[in-house]
Parts: sequence; structure tokens; C-alpha cells
Amino acid sequence: EAAARAAAATADNGAPTIFDKIIAKEIPANIVYEDEKVLAFRDINPQAPVHVLVIPKVRDGLTELGKAEERHKDILGELMYAAKIVAEKEGIADGFRVVINSGPAGCQSVYHLHLHVLGGRQMKWPPG
Ligand code: ADP
Repeated sequence: EAAARAAAATADNGAPTIFDKIIAKEIPANIVYEDEKVLAFRDINPQAPVHVLVIPKVRDGLTELGKAEERHKDILGELMYAAKIVAEKEGIADGFRVVINSGPAGCQSVYHLHLHVLGGRQMKWPPG
């Protein structure tokens, strides 16, 4: 039950997230790449020497991958391609990992879709 409560506390409720403030430049972020549609910045709690988050600048209901709709196909492609650009910029294009946590069971905590780009060390499989 405690686990269920914790999951509910971090479930998607469509509320604005901390990433809106980063997009609006109201709170600082270490931005590594930006274009018209996406923003990429360093994770505040890095799990690898390179740990960058890639997010859409407009969430448009895309709180989690599990709620993606047909209309999101283009931005999903933009995000994936931006992850590759980030990997190149960070010098890890020869080997890196992209992760999307979706929903409470996927360990998602910020409900604004984001890709984790991780690298700079040997990654292991399976993930936890
Ligand atoms: P989890 O927290 O389990 O990794 P997510 O996939 O939702 O779940 O990831 C959210 C990520 O956002 C975390 O890696 C966290 O460190 C990062 N984060 C939270 N706040 C900030 C911030 N202000 N600046 C940069 N990264 C942040």
C-alpha cells in the first residue's frame, strides 16, 4: 500500500512540471543543444559521465510515452534525432544509451516526456 501511495504521488496528473520553468529560462539549466522544437540540458543528478535530457519545448499532452498519440509522431522523431545530435556533441556517438521512463512502474518522476541520453562509461544490461 505504501508503494501504491508513492506511485500515485508521482503519477501523471497533467500539471505543469519543473521542465516548463527550464524552457521559460525561469530556472537555470546547463543547455547542451537547442532548436525550434527541442531542448537538451544536463541532468541535475547524473547517472553517467554524460547524462542529458532531451525534451519537447511544447508538451502538447505528451506527459509520458504511454500517452503518446498519432499527432505526436513528428515530435517523437525530432526527439530521437536530437538525442543523436547530443551524443555527437558530447563525443559519445560511438556508444551510448537512450532511456524513456514511462509511468510510475517505469520510474518516471517528471511528467513532461523526456529522453535520457547516457554515456561516457560502459553501460550494462539489463537495467534495474
Ligand atoms: P527518474 O527521476 O526516476 O529518473 P524521470 O525519467 O522522470 O524519472 O527523470 C527525471 C529526471 O529529471 C531525473 O533524472 C532528474 O534528475 C532530472 N531533473 C529533475 N529536476 C531537474 C532539473 N531542475 N534540472 C535538470 N534535471 C532535473
